[in-house]
Amino acid sequence: MEDNTKKHLSNWRNHAFSANPLTVLDRNSSLARLRSFLCKTPEQLKDEQTVLILPFLHSKPLVLSPSSPPSPPTWRLAWQSLYKCVQLVDHNLLSNMVYLGHRGDTMHWALDFPTEKAAEFVSSTQKTIFVDVRRLMIGTDPSHEVGMADLSIAGQAKALLEWHDQVQFCCKCGTKALFKEDGRKKQCGNNMCKRNLFPRIDAVVIMLVIDKVNNRALLARQSQFLSHMWSCLAGFIEPGESLEEAMKREIWEEVGIEINEAVYHSSQPWPVGPVSMPCQLMVGFFAFAKSFEILVDQIELEDAQWFSREEVKKMLDYSRYKKDQKKTAFRINQLCAGAEMGKGSLPDIKRNIKGSRELTSMFVPGPYAIAHHLISSWAYCNQNSLLSKL
Ligand SMILES: [Zn+2]
Repeated sequence: MEDNTKKHLSNWRNHAFSANPLTVLDRNSSLARLRSFLCKTPEQLKDEQTVLILPFLHSKPLVLSPSSPPSPPTWRLAWQSLYKCVQLVDHNLLSNMVYLGHRGDTMHWALDFPTEKAAEFVSSTQKTIFVDVRRLMIGTDPSHEVGMADLSIAGQAKALLEWHDQVQFCCKCGTKALFKEDGRKKQCGNNMCKRNLFPRIDAVVIMLVIDKVNNRALLARQSQFLSHMWSCLAGFIEPGESLEEAMKREIWEEVGIEINEAVYHSSQPWPVGPVSMPCQLMVGFFAFAKSFEILVDQIELEDAQWFSREEVKKMLDYSRYKKDQKKTAFRINQLCAGAEMGKGSLPDIKRNIKGSRELTSMFVPGPYAIAHHLISSWAYCNQNSLLSKL
């Protein structure tokens, strides 16, 4: 097994967006402490170091990337002081901050700023700019602990702020929903209703379908995937279904295959899915097939095929992931230094040629996605030991 593959496998339990380093302490006392600060004048807050705020603009966190050659570019979250924020926006807006957690004695909060105020945080001299979380995800080196920790904070904050943006009104009576507590709850403003609204998790099953008899795995393509990218099957859990039932149904609907056994692998928060579902949780399984003829649902999928273990190993192209990561990190670094937004984009967005099986150009999602770890775990582990380990 190659060294870099071993490294990926040994780290797989800390998926991107998991293992958030912030600790959620008593929410009510955190909120009370914040409110006591907001009663002070800006001058009284000048030296206040125990509150940090992460500004967002349209779901993008403020980041900085101070590195310059020859050091490889990295990015960090650009936390701001309460002093700076109270000078920019009024207390009403600041009381809509979302509590993210503590690190030591320092409270961490996130806030979506109006566009004209957010512009105040963008600085080419301080190398700060708002960057899309998906771009940050691709640009983070999986072995960089600090970067991965910042990514998980950014992902959680994005999910909570997007939930607030979407839940504007009571789902029962239509009255404006009010921000409550530390941002983990809203409440209907109608005193006769007062319905509580909480963020809900949208659970998705994601599974690698395995043919044990012929030592193959099934990979599929959706039309919106990056060119030449293949991945696991996935689908939302419907009301009244168990995870196992959802998995069986999705596999049957999408590729017409029956399964007789499934093994849980791991789960991953996924805040970079569809905008309408900011709080997704991907739940990963190995699913063992008992029928093998593929019947592709052309509405859901562009293609699905069986691949041998050797073919899948060729698709796990670590040099490509590293190249994409470096290229994206460099682009983030350029943006922070004042390069124009919109110029330069993420690598490779051309469509695939249907049915193409040119293994040199085919690949699976990078180490930031649970799909990668399902696929690489199968490709590089002995099947029987894989089962006994899980
Ligand atoms: Zn209501």
